[in-house]
Amino acid sequence: MKPNDKIRLICAIIACMALAGCTNSCRGIRTPDEYTKPTIPESQVKIRVMIVPHGRHTRIFCDAPFKVYSADEQRRSLSEDSYVIRKGAEITATMDGIKVGTLLFKGNAFRLVPQTGNPITVYESERDRKRYFGELIIYRNEIDMTVDVVNIVGLENYLIGVLGREVAANWPIEALKTQAVASRTRVLFQRQEARKLGDRFDVRADTKDQVYGGIPSGPYGERIERAVRATAGQVLTLNERIFKIYFASTCGGMTEYAERVFQAKPGVHTRGGITCPYCADSPVYRWKHRIGNAEVARRISMFSDAPVTKIISITTAGKDPVGHAASVTVKHDKGTFEIDNAYKFRTNVLGKSISTEYWRDGRWQKAAGNDNKHKEIIMSTSFEARIVGDYIEFTGIGWGHAVGLCQFGAKKMAEDGRDYRAILAFYYPGSIIETNYNNQVE
Ligand SMILES: [Zn+2]
Repeated sequence: MKPNDKIRLICAIIACMALAGCTNSCRGIRTPDEYTKPTIPESQVKIRVMIVPHGRHTRIFCDAPFKVYSADEQRRSLSEDSYVIRKGAEITATMDGIKVGTLLFKGNAFRLVPQTGNPITVYESERDRKRYFGELIIYRNEIDMTVDVVNIVGLENYLIGVLGREVAANWPIEALKTQAVASRTRVLFQRQEARKLGDRFDVRADTKDQVYGGIPSGPYGERIERAVRATAGQVLTLNERIFKIYFASTCGGMTEYAERVFQAKPGVHTRGGITCPYCADSPVYRWKHRIGNAEVARRISMFSDAPVTKIISITTAGKDPVGHAASVTVKHDKGTFEIDNAYKFRTNVLGKSISTEYWRDGRWQKAAGNDNKHKEIIMSTSFEARIVGDYIEFTGIGWGHAVGLCQFGAKKMAEDGRDYRAILAFYYPGSIIETNYNNQVE
């Protein structure tokens, strides 16, 4: 090949690459690897997210230079050097410090800060790599010689990592904006509580708080950004204060009361009992699950003096108009188990099981992988139980605690042309949108 041909070939390759890039960006789609810098300005309000609790084989890599500082707010420099980790380096607790690959940092914690704002990749298995903007603090847990990894991220970029995991990123934009305001309010409230208690983190990254996975990995990142950006700084207040707000997948026709489900103090939440005609299209509006009688008996045994071997009946009482129960009574071969909180019966007594089967397409199926909703033995407190042979069959309506925003209801309202302000006012009556959360941060 002549030199001129070579130059022409290189030019052609560059032109092709430029075109390929244009195709994606012209459609407004950004692939995960294109997120090398935060696209939303970092908020001054930082969220501390526990992304790896008690990690034993956590690996990180950061191919942009980072520096290491003390974990406290003084941020003393622990080394003059900048580092780059191009291959996953394991983080391990040692007798006197924390090792990252072969580097040893003495002490119980340190802060890792990328110098150019690039993301850091953190993973425990090759299949589960996640990329995070912001900083990391690595803590050594002396008792079990594990490490905690906490991501310090600006509030708005935290929301980018939450939105597509709390609802589907291809939902109508007004539904995404609704969720953005709800999630922002929720995390700011939790941040306030965590800091009062002196905790090392504000929120966890799983369903115990809000599901956070760092930089979105799907093709809808741009829509998530748009929803976060359009509502930037906005939170809900009740009596001029942010409050602990709740949201759940599918209320089943009427929202629940925080006082009834979580024993919340009266007056610090918006009211429940809102008739929701919008979530009937949700795929979990009606569900049917079954599990072996013996497994439920084993779980009830934890609350019985003698081992329970057989469940005779499960009944509910104190139902609201769509069937959310207040209390549950279980009759079994050794007596009776009663609980005056149906939500605790669902989450703490029954909980999840890999043996749960759900009815779909004319047959019983087992939940696989991350399909948590079908691992739940019951998906809401609106249920009926029937003993069928060796199984207990549960039929019910809705998924989740049903307090506050109904996410599938919000989706339908948005499809019907309602904006996020109207949706929030519907599910959180009496609340007001405050446009600058800095007024609420202590
Ligand atoms: Zn609903």
